[in-house]
Amino acid sequence: MKTRIVKRPQLSVGERIYFATVVKGLLLTIKHFFGVCRDLFDWKNKKTAITMQYPEERWDFKDNFRGAPALVMDQFGREKCVACQMCEFVCPPKAITIWPAEFATKDNNVEKFPDRFEIDMLRCIYCGFCEEACPEEAIFLVKEAELVHTDKKDFIHDKGKLYEMGGIREDRILKWQHK
Ligand code: SF4
Ligand code: SF4
Repeated sequence: MKTRIVKRPQLSVGERIYFATVVKGLLLTIKHFFGVCRDLFDWKNKKTAITMQYPEERWDFKDNFRGAPALVMDQFGREKCVACQMCEFVCPPKAITIWPAEFATKDNNVEKFPDRFEIDMLRCIYCGFCEEACPEEAIFLVKEAELVHTDKKDFIHDKGKLYEMGGIREDRILKWQHK
């Protein structure tokens, strides 16, 4: 096989003394310096913005913030989860455990409900897969992100805690509503 010789590009005089490159680098450093100065001061409230006085001051999370997963009810206070276990199946660290139960009466449009529903927050990685997989829009990642407990057992969020965190979300479809 014939050897192919690649010619090195010839540098101009300016490129060889690196002057332009050094100036470019310095300008970039100056730009970042003023950027940091601007960010260190809260111009709106006229005070330094270096340290947040937590817990008196807290972050204002956006609505799409991925905090802890929680269960929600519809506007009629009805539990939306139908215990299909999709979220349990899809959860990468296996943080969700569901104990499904069947409704005794058949006049209900829903067959099952979660008798127990637990999420181990020491396993949860806040990935949001459960929210994406849920066919009933029953589980959401809420803004709650400060989970502090002194007992490991408290990190297991049971159904009561999950509904307390999730609250009510308006359901526009009302799939299981009697027509
Ligand atoms: S957010 Fe991710 S890790 Fe946490 S319970 Fe949902 S699927 Fe599991
Ligand atoms: S939260 Fe959603 S995905 Fe999980 S069991 Fe209930 S209905 Fe199924």
